[in-house]
Amino acid sequence: MRPLIAGNWKMNGLARQLGEIEVIAISVKASPPLAEILICPPTTLIERAVRTAAGRIAIGGQNCHTEIAGAFTGDVSAEMLKDAGASAVVVGHSERRQYHGETDAVVAAKARAVCRAGLLAIICIGETQSQRSDGKALSVCGDQIAGSVPEGMISSATAIGYEPLWAIGTGHMPTSEEITEMHAHIRQCLVARLGGQGNEVRILYGGSVKPSNARDILALPEVGGALVGGASLRAKDFEAIFRSVPAIT
Ligand code: PEP
Repeated sequence: MRPLIAGNWKMNGLARQLGEIEVIAISVKASPPLAEILICPPTTLIERAVRTAAGRIAIGGQNCHTEIAGAFTGDVSAEMLKDAGASAVVVGHSERRQYHGETDAVVAAKARAVCRAGLLAIICIGETQSQRSDGKALSVCGDQIAGSVPEGMISSATAIGYEPLWAIGTGHMPTSEEITEMHAHIRQCLVARLGGQGNEVRILYGGSVKPSNARDILALPEVGGALVGGASLRAKDFEAIFRSVPAIT
C-alpha cells in the first residue's frame, strides 16, 4: 500500500492559491515522492486545480451528496466531482458531522455514492476530547467504522481518516502510543467489517500534522498516510510533510 498524503483545504482558496498546487506539481515531477499526493480544494477550484496539477498529483472533493442528480439545491454529486476531474472525496469529516448533522448512516450513504462514481472515499472518524477522557475512544471509533463504512467496500475505493476532534486545528496531538493503539483497533474493525479487504485499506492520521511531527507520525505502525488541514495550504509545509514518508523496507 503506497501511503497517501491528503490535503484538506476546507473553505479556503481562491484562484491565486492554485499557485501552491503548481509549486507542488513541479516538485513532484522533478522528484517523485514515495506517497500518493492528493489535494482537496473547495469545489469551485477543482477543475482548475486538476488542470494545474497536470496529473502529477490527485485532486479531490471535500463532500458530496448521496444521489447522482436531482432537486438538491446547492449540492454536488460524486459523479459531478468526477466529471470535474476529482479522483477522491472526503466524507464524514467531523466538521460535516458537527455543523451539518451528518450521522454515520449519512456518511455511509455518501461513501457508497463515492464508490458508485468510481472514486476513492476517505471516510473520517474520530472521538471528542471527553470521549477520550472517559476511556471511550476505541469504542466510539469502532462504532463509527461499523456505521460509516458500507459493507462490501473494496480497499481500492476506501481510506479511513482517523481524526481525533480535539486534535484538529488545535496543535494538540495524541501520543504515539495512542495513535498506534487506535490504528491497530481500526484495522481490526475494518477486517471485521470488510474481511480480507480490510487489511488493504489505508488508515490516515489527521489532526495537527505539521512538518515538525510528520516524520514521527508517518513511521508508526498502521499509519498509511496523513490527512492534513492547515498545513496543506502552503506548498512548502505540505511538501515537507509528504517528503517525510518513510521508505518501505
Ligand atoms: C482536518 O481538518 O482534516 C485537519 C486534520 O486539520 P488540521 O491539520 O489543521 O488539524
